Amino acid sequence: MMRSNVVDVVDGAAELVRLVSRARRVVSFTGAGLSTESGVPDFRSPGSPWLKNKPIPFDAFVASAEARREAWRRKFAMDDEFAGAEPGRGHRALAGLVQAGLSPAIITQNIDGLHQASGVADEQVVELHGNGSYARCIRCWHRHELAPIRRAFEQEGRLPVCEACGGDVKSATISFGQAMPQEDLRRAAALAQDCDLFLAIGSSLVVFPAASLPVLARRSGATLVIINREPTDMDAEADLVVRGEIGDALAPLHEFVPVARKSGVEA
Ligand code: NAD
Repeated sequence: MMRSNVVDVVDGAAELVRLVSRARRVVSFTGAGLSTESGVPDFRSPGSPWLKNKPIPFDAFVASAEARREAWRRKFAMDDEFAGAEPGRGHRALAGLVQAGLSPAIITQNIDGLHQASGVADEQVVELHGNGSYARCIRCWHRHELAPIRRAFEQEGRLPVCEACGGDVKSATISFGQAMPQEDLRRAAALAQDCDLFLAIGSSLVVFPAASLPVLARRSGATLVIINREPTDMDAEADLVVRGEIGDALAPLHEFVPVARKSGVEA
């Protein structure tokens, strides 16, 4: 009979330290579960505030001022709910891997900016679903800051329009039906193919193409570890599945990494 690849967080944390200590190049791939310890709810767990309303798809945002108004209303309401979220134990442990030179970059589906807040440079975070802490013109991709958009929206009911090209401005996250950032996807695939340890953390692994990265890494020769509270459809592909709280599983790595050898990896 095949031995199970599933362990609890106590055994998982010890095994993670062992795997990282032997690794040359570690790539982490994170999902919304990493940030629940910081008070940002994930997407699919019961009671998710993200699913209170039917998501507004990209084509509806483009087609109707009413949809744009509703999208901005929801965006600012959610921002208020999670204002002040700070990186958790998982974010700090992963930042430690990057700072110790063991990890060239973190790939994330998250839009909360908590990897950067934990000390990882912007260039070392590959954001597959964008970032909710600023906005972009959907036509020319010019960056816009949220504070003046919010002021004009709340005080004058004005929807943001790009001063550079006249296009509509939207939170810099990827909506349902919106094209994925191709360069980030390419970079993520290259990272997955060139690492010897791939950690998939806090994702239900159902959103494609992002969810194909763990299997790509595994098939390219990396050891694949999945860390999640619940089973995922990809557990059978993993070398190790750590089932439990992410903070508990990753905290011991944070202690270990400062003494880890520098392996001189490049982003
Ligand atoms: P998901 O909600 O589909 O899955 C999260 C998984 O994490 C679940 O399986 C859940 O059981 C697990 N989990 C939650 N908290 C955990 C904890 N403390 N320890 C261990 N496991 C835990 O998330 P996803 O796969 O990332 O897909 C959601 C999509 O929604 C993403 O594309 C993302 O862009 C977006 N989103 C982002 C945020 C954020 O930026 N923090 C929050 C919600 C949604």
